[in-house]
Amino acid sequence: MLKVCKFGGTSMADGNVINGVKKIIESDASRKYVVVSAPGKRYSGDSKVTDLLYKCHSELTEKGNCKESFKAVRARFVSIVKELNIPFNIEAVLDETEKLIVSENSEDFIASRGEYLCARIVAEVLGAKFVDAYDVVFFKEDGSLDGAKSYKAISEAVSGANSAVIPGFYGKGTDGRVKTFSRGGSDISGAVVARAVNATVYENWTDVSGFLACDPRIVDSPVKIKCISYKELRELSYMGANVLHSDSIFPVRKANIPIKIKNTFNPADEGTSIVPSSRYVPSGNIVTGVAGKKNFTVIFIEKSHMNAEVGFICKVLTVLMDEGIPVEHIPTGTDTMSLVVDSGYLKKEKLEEIVSKIKTAVSPDTVRVLEDVALIATVGHGMSSSVGTSARLFNAIANANINIKMIDQGSSELNVIVGVNNDDYENCIRAIYYEFFR
Ligand code: ASP
Repeated sequence: MLKVCKFGGTSMADGNVINGVKKIIESDASRKYVVVSAPGKRYSGDSKVTDLLYKCHSELTEKGNCKESFKAVRARFVSIVKELNIPFNIEAVLDETEKLIVSENSEDFIASRGEYLCARIVAEVLGAKFVDAYDVVFFKEDGSLDGAKSYKAISEAVSGANSAVIPGFYGKGTDGRVKTFSRGGSDISGAVVARAVNATVYENWTDVSGFLACDPRIVDSPVKIKCISYKELRELSYMGANVLHSDSIFPVRKANIPIKIKNTFNPADEGTSIVPSSRYVPSGNIVTGVAGKKNFTVIFIEKSHMNAEVGFICKVLTVLMDEGIPVEHIPTGTDTMSLVVDSGYLKKEKLEEIVSKIKTAVSPDTVRVLEDVALIATVGHGMSSSVGTSARLFNAIANANINIKMIDQGSSELNVIVGVNNDDYENCIRAIYYEFFR
């Protein structure tokens, strides 16, 4: 048994919490490799260290130094070391870091220092080897992770070490400078380390006891998901469930390494297991979860004999590709097709330009645009094997008096996606949840 544990920002918030983390790690000898985030909020209204560091970057850009903003970062780390009561000269490391921040002067470098400093401290607390992510996590020219190179470097760096601590969130770009993942990216780092050492499980320690079947801000106390497949999670996390960075399943999924979401503040809680479909344990519920996202735009295109026109869809999609706009869904009919696009990519002029280019490319009979659409995904492996699930879903939505603007069922029968008005979003989620979970 070999476990890689990633601890999120709230698990690193102060010295007491870090002592709790130490206990968790020491209670299980297979928890050998640890990835950490930068310290998060201690209480509501507090600042995350990474946010303080982004402020340092802004101050540096404006004034040529970041003395004011760095004070808050310094205070956080000094107090953590004090609370831990360890003989670690944090002031010296902070002095050096402050100098490097000014000389490196890059946003990614500055943002990465929260994880760097935190990992230095945790390595000290655990008496573990510190492995700098800069030396072992690599990005490719296009900004994506260089998996093969990283896995090799990580496994070499930790081989022989009894335990190791690696900062999350960053690595080295092809230009030799520090580069970060997107926000929340320490989850990805944890997955990369798990894959590199071929862990039995990747434990992701956070401040909640796993995934809930839907957003608790919309439904009161939704049920917890005990087991979810990578595929189901992709459908749900992509739509907005945000306990785990949605990119973090890719490295482990290829090696069939399960992820376990655990709660640092309630370690005995079973948490949620994310597993390959072959190891999926059905809960008995047809639906695993319901999640969604507001603000999509639907571009509806109609043309007689569209089905017979070779290359029609390709020409339409080329327009969006040339503009660098990703398409979320493409529901089609015999003479119709719709493009569902995240509205964030379509500011007013852009939308007009796209519509006009589509008109030129395929001479459609009609092009209509529908804005303020919310997409809601109902996801579950159980859906493919039970008759009448869609009927129940649509009935529930109809009974809530909600008009469905668009339907898309993935061919895997794993999910049904409906598009409704933004204003109906919360009600629609509630209607679906009550139908399948109450
Ligand atoms: N500290 C980074 C952030 O706040 C990365 C992470 O926490 O995973 O986004």
